[in-house]
Amino acid sequence: MIPLFDLHCDTFSEIFKNNYRLHDAPLHVSLKKAQGFSPYIQVCAIWSDYHLSNDEAYEHYKKTLSYIKNQNITLCKNYHEFSKLSFILAIEDARILNNQLQRLDALYDNDVRVITLNWSGVTCIGGGWDTNVGLTAFGTSVIKGCAEKGIIVDLSHSSAKTQEETLNLAQELKVSPIFSHSNSYSICKHGRNISDDIFKKIVSQDGLVGISLYPLHLNIHGNANTESIISHIEHFLNLGGAKNICLGCDFDGITSLPYGITSISSLASLYILIEKKFSEQIAKRIFFYNAYEFFSKNLK
Ligand SMILES: [Zn+2]
Repeated sequence: MIPLFDLHCDTFSEIFKNNYRLHDAPLHVSLKKAQGFSPYIQVCAIWSDYHLSNDEAYEHYKKTLSYIKNQNITLCKNYHEFSKLSFILAIEDARILNNQLQRLDALYDNDVRVITLNWSGVTCIGGGWDTNVGLTAFGTSVIKGCAEKGIIVDLSHSSAKTQEETLNLAQELKVSPIFSHSNSYSICKHGRNISDDIFKKIVSQDGLVGISLYPLHLNIHGNANTESIISHIEHFLNLGGAKNICLGCDFDGITSLPYGITSISSLASLYILIEKKFSEQIAKRIFFYNAYEFFSKNLK
């Protein structure tokens, strides 16, 4: 069995929206489609839909969460709870905090353990990837609150300025941020991807980067295949990231997939490709052990 630890999917939001069950949902991810992987640990995000106001998105998050918990899906609070099949809850776009720090307590009590700071535009937290804006004072207090509680901060949708300010603050606070689903800007010049300088900082701060399967983040023209995934991995390995990269497929958050990938079950062939191109050790690190070691250290 191939071990798999994936840093990002939007499956919880999709099963709530469509009234599906995680077991057999006709989506990129379902428990049936993931049967070939063990252990299988999945970070699942609840997305703050941009059509909704901050408060509406907060209400929507609460409804999604109760739908999930009604399906007897257990969310891991810390690494001691990891088993053969485990889920970690994330929120994508912290604007649902809406300038109220007490909502961070509520999210933590609801088992949220990863927070993606931005999605796009400027919010109460700071600037997203499509802006030149950094953190707000509230955004800074959210990062401090996350460090105190043990919530992992995700910079995947943040601006270059927010990334830099957060990494500097994280260094002071002795915590390691992640990019849950972003690729290399040197390989694909999309604003959601990571510059070499920021990637090197992530490596030096023991952070983690999940490779996204979104075709436009793999290849600027969108005609991506499994070789495109390999190019991003190879570039990050050349920057010294052998212990810092994993998968962050963005399943069920993306409307198209690279040629050769149809669902989570296709990752088995990607594993073989990585093993052939690099080594078994690298394949195992990318598929599981890097993320497992990171979360064992940071999710206490
Ligand atoms: Zn995303």
